[in-house]
Amino acid sequence: MAKKLIYRFGGGSADGKADMKALLGGKGANLAEMANLGMPVPPGFTITTEVCTDYYKLGGKYPPGLKEEVKKSLAWVEKQIGRKYGDPGDPLLVSVRSGARASMPGMMDTVLNIGLNEKTIKGLIEESGDERFAYDSYRRLIQMYSNVVMGMDKDVLEHELDHLKKSKGYKGDLDLKSDDLKALIKQYKTLVKKHTNKDFPEDPWEQLWGAIGAVFQSWNTARAVTYRKLNKIPDWWGTAVNVQSMVFGNLGPSSATGVAFTRDPSTGDNFFYGEFLPNAQGEDVVAGIRTPQPINDVRKHDPKLESLQKMMPKLYNELDGIQKSLERHYKDMMDIEFTIQKGKLWMLQSRVGKRTARSGIKIAVDMVKNGSISKREAVSRVSPDQLDQVLHPMIDPKAPKKRIAKGLNASPGAASGKVVFNADEAEAMHNDGHKVLLVRIETSPEDIHGMNAAEGILTARGGMTSHAAVVARGMGKPCVAGCGEIEIDYAKNMFRAGDAIVKKGDEITIDGSTGEVYLGRLPTIPPQMTGDFGVFMKWVDEIRKLGVRTNADTPKDAKLARDFGAQGIGLTRTEHMFFEADRIAAVREMILADDEAGRRKALKKILPFQKKDFLGILKAMEGLPVTIRLLDPPLHEFLPTRDKEINELAAEMKVTPERIRAKIETLHEFNPMLGHRGCRLGITYPEIYEIQVRAIFEAACELTKKGVKVLPEVMIPIVAHVNELRPLEQMTRRIAAEIMARTKTKVKYHVGTMIELPRAALTADEIATVAEFFSFGTNDLTQTTLGVSRDDAGTFLREYVDKKILPFDPFVSIDQEGVGQLIRMAAEKGRKTRKDIHIGICGEHGGDPDSVIFCHKVGLDYVSCSPYRVPIARLAAAHAVLQEEAAKKAAKHGKKAEAQLATTV
Ligand code: PEP
Ligand code: MG
Repeated sequence: MAKKLIYRFGGGSADGKADMKALLGGKGANLAEMANLGMPVPPGFTITTEVCTDYYKLGGKYPPGLKEEVKKSLAWVEKQIGRKYGDPGDPLLVSVRSGARASMPGMMDTVLNIGLNEKTIKGLIEESGDERFAYDSYRRLIQMYSNVVMGMDKDVLEHELDHLKKSKGYKGDLDLKSDDLKALIKQYKTLVKKHTNKDFPEDPWEQLWGAIGAVFQSWNTARAVTYRKLNKIPDWWGTAVNVQSMVFGNLGPSSATGVAFTRDPSTGDNFFYGEFLPNAQGEDVVAGIRTPQPINDVRKHDPKLESLQKMMPKLYNELDGIQKSLERHYKDMMDIEFTIQKGKLWMLQSRVGKRTARSGIKIAVDMVKNGSISKREAVSRVSPDQLDQVLHPMIDPKAPKKRIAKGLNASPGAASGKVVFNADEAEAMHNDGHKVLLVRIETSPEDIHGMNAAEGILTARGGMTSHAAVVARGMGKPCVAGCGEIEIDYAKNMFRAGDAIVKKGDEITIDGSTGEVYLGRLPTIPPQMTGDFGVFMKWVDEIRKLGVRTNADTPKDAKLARDFGAQGIGLTRTEHMFFEADRIAAVREMILADDEAGRRKALKKILPFQKKDFLGILKAMEGLPVTIRLLDPPLHEFLPTRDKEINELAAEMKVTPERIRAKIETLHEFNPMLGHRGCRLGITYPEIYEIQVRAIFEAACELTKKGVKVLPEVMIPIVAHVNELRPLEQMTRRIAAEIMARTKTKVKYHVGTMIELPRAALTADEIATVAEFFSFGTNDLTQTTLGVSRDDAGTFLREYVDKKILPFDPFVSIDQEGVGQLIRMAAEKGRKTRKDIHIGICGEHGGDPDSVIFCHKVGLDYVSCSPYRVPIARLAAAHAVLQEEAAKKAAKHGKKAEAQLATTV
């Protein structure tokens, strides 16, 4: 049977349904579902995503049969609505909109009012009885179409419109008279001809096919491609095209248009939340040109803005009924778009609403409590990446601050940065290592790269559903939107807020949870881990199998990570302690010593400091394992580089600066990352590791004596050969036994190694004869497997990713096909030798959700990551289990393809 190219909806039924998102896109599938539920949906049809992929495969040509199918389906729509497309007497007008499998707000194109021309406009005037409305619709068509389909710069016609309004002294679009619009249309057409060399098409069919083609092409615009990359949406999905009969919210005071959420998307509070504009067309609400009005009076709002509930109570009740059924039906918070045309309500869209992580958690917890969804479903609904938002610090309430403005609390969290006024500059400054805050009058999809680079976003115009608000929430960035109290002057690169003037480069802080804007960079405090978050994370822990530890070098970080749910420390980098001001001198003395006796003398001074460090960290992690790694970096890293410091050190050591310079010279290495570091130091200067081991066990025994339960694990870095590990393991056990005997205490401990060199992975079976545990150092393992320096990769890796040579940065997410094979193999070999070997990962990848899922799949025991990533890793570990279950279930039902999707997306 030939592939079905088109699915119809409307008139109380549909060909498709909600679970057909892959084929119909989110918008098409949900329009079908609403039609099936008997909700008032303007009739239309969806051209499938398969047609889009075929269109690209065929080099920009439609698959055979599409033209006839579109014709037949439009004839069906005509029948439903009782109007004919292109009929000069009573024309059917249509909208053409994109709709991908995953929502990509504002990224692809839409054209409204298609089918209007010099002839059909007469019919529209007659039928609507409103000449002004008809001309206004026509000028909107020309504006959108010339930009989206004919590729003309949209500013040309917008400028023309602004010019007309200014010259007539009009305040807004609503002041435009019918004659103004008539003249404007004429002028628009002249400008279109001038700029595109083509006439604006009169033929409604040409218009329709132009718009369909433009939507398919919009799948591959730069901004859509960037958005997909950021959101991990595969390029091959393609978009569907929805052709739908137009309904009008701009037919006078009994018409309106709006967007709403079944719950508050920012806080998750259970109340119907939304915005609308009377006498307006869809895009006006999100464009931020007019200030939208609240949908109801449940929450306090500006009394000057009348609610829909007050203005049109009957329609509001109808809408309220629909939103309640939608939420009941989908068992989730929904985002809806509606239009009221002359007192009749129409539903234009419904989809699962984007939400902040905080509200996502609240909604999930509330829905489990009221029995709508299971705990497993709740956990699956919050993405690990999104959780990052909840973990953002908040502005310290006690900090002195100067508030300069207040806008809408569009996306929560505090963000500070240097002010920039355009997206390119935001990106450039971010790449130079600055933290920036993007300040715009309003944002548009062209700003997406700048929003991504910024710490937060501040806009002067637009509501909670404006582009800035929606995109920021999706990205998990703090955002204050619609901040009318700031007056931006792009030309002067500054904004004014009351009597404060903020210039480009000045620092400000925004609080996306309250909508407040402050001067300067404000101190923050860590977030609260209680309430709904605590309940949610308990469910997460019930599901996950993978342990989650933290990388921490100080008692403070250890405590923070414990609060975040860390089950121990997976990596303490002892070198960080060597840099502390009170001991760096002794460390340098040790490095500069000429012989072992000199080194031992200096190390004696270091011992009490190291012991104190370990006392603190072992105590903070009482009852939990603490993996302490012996010294790793090459020694030259500890030496001074500037003259002033060299001179100071020389004076302290009573030697000449030249001697110090000469020593620095001898320690110089061409490839220090592959040089005299890690266990190689331990082998050649055993006294360094000995003193560290001594400090660990003196601290451990002292605490044990005091009744503190400690579980130290000594870890040796940069091991390539079992012969390197063996003597160091023996030394550790010798010193541990000696101290335990001396102090008459017993401490349970383990000795293990990092696996961070390919040779270690390849010979993991031999290494496991000595190591009681493995910890994959995926930073070095990635560096040495790819042969890419972790410190110099910045020069070309970004381009590699842009050119799709690598799918992503392998230092961020594990290269599963390459480095991943070594991990899998080493784990298997290690377990063959030592059945109970404990295996984890402590490279940066331990906090990357995809890498965590990979670690679950290859059967590691735990991941270790920075404190703030601990909850993210916990959730990712739970998702790994849920994905595995979904894949098993799908495979059982013979749906192999879906099983694969569940594990890869
Ligand atoms: C690693 O190499 O992954 C690791 C954790 O060690 P470091 O980053 O300290 O080299
Ligand atoms: Mg390393």
